[in-house]
Amino acid sequence: MLGNAANVDEVRRALDAGAEGIGLFRSEFLYMQGPALPDEETQFAAYRAAAELCGARPLTVRTLDIGGDKALPYMHFEPEENPFLGWRAIRVSLAMPELFRTQLRALLRASAFGNVRVMFPMIASVGEFRAAKAVVETCMAELDAEGVAYDRDIALGVMIETPAAVFIADELAARARFFSIGTNDLTQYVLAVDRGNRRIAAMYDTLHPAVVRAMRLTVDAAHRHGCEVGICGEFAGCAAHAELLVGLGFDELSVAPPSVPAVKERIRGLETPQAELTARRAVEAATASEVHELIGVG
Ligand code: PEP
Ligand code: MG
Repeated sequence: MLGNAANVDEVRRALDAGAEGIGLFRSEFLYMQGPALPDEETQFAAYRAAAELCGARPLTVRTLDIGGDKALPYMHFEPEENPFLGWRAIRVSLAMPELFRTQLRALLRASAFGNVRVMFPMIASVGEFRAAKAVVETCMAELDAEGVAYDRDIALGVMIETPAAVFIADELAARARFFSIGTNDLTQYVLAVDRGNRRIAAMYDTLHPAVVRAMRLTVDAAHRHGCEVGICGEFAGCAAHAELLVGLGFDELSVAPPSVPAVKERIRGLETPQAELTARRAVEAATASEVHELIGVG
């Protein structure tokens, strides 16, 4: 069981609550708290502090995920008609190589002080993952030339948040060390339901069979290639969903610190064959209400 954190204090809170590492470290806070882009030293200090707290336990850092509903006051974001389909997440990082390089250098340097893993948000193609890996390799070559230590075997992963990533999960799994499904975004993109629009909030349902099947496709593809697969969306933080997620075969659940004890407790009480049966039935269900009924969630 891993924890989600948005800053170093939350890393401590997650570990204190019983998390065996961090499955999602949202790096945005570093970019949102100051008047300008954080430099390499500022980022290195934060990632190193988080890595040292985790020790041998994994610290999974997601690279900058802005755009959509998250802007940076000092950066120009052109108004867009569909910001969630626009300039956000990995698209911003790949379009701003200096910004991306600064973050990756800081992360690589921090990897010498713990078990750092790096994942990229909103990947929709093999090309994007390849391009991100190429920037990591450039940074490694720079650090080699400078004689700076880092973990040469650092794990690079893909956040599965787009339907495109689900449909090419085999190709991504063959190239990534791990997946983490971001169900907050995956649900909105699979169902075409804006996650922040209250008017259609009732339609936003991760238990919709389309989303459950997307999770199954992703988990199975990952395992075909020996790629570890976790889930870090808010959905995993509800103990009532644990049976479905364990039955679908997730290797790791990552949840907000306050949810760690209850979800852990629920997982301990599960029988794997029963959980697998529940998951199979959920995948075969025709409607969201059938899935709700199946797992006893209203
Ligand atoms: C997600 O989309 O599920 C996720 C974990 O990322 P965020 O909520 O930060 O977009
Ligand atoms: Mg997301």
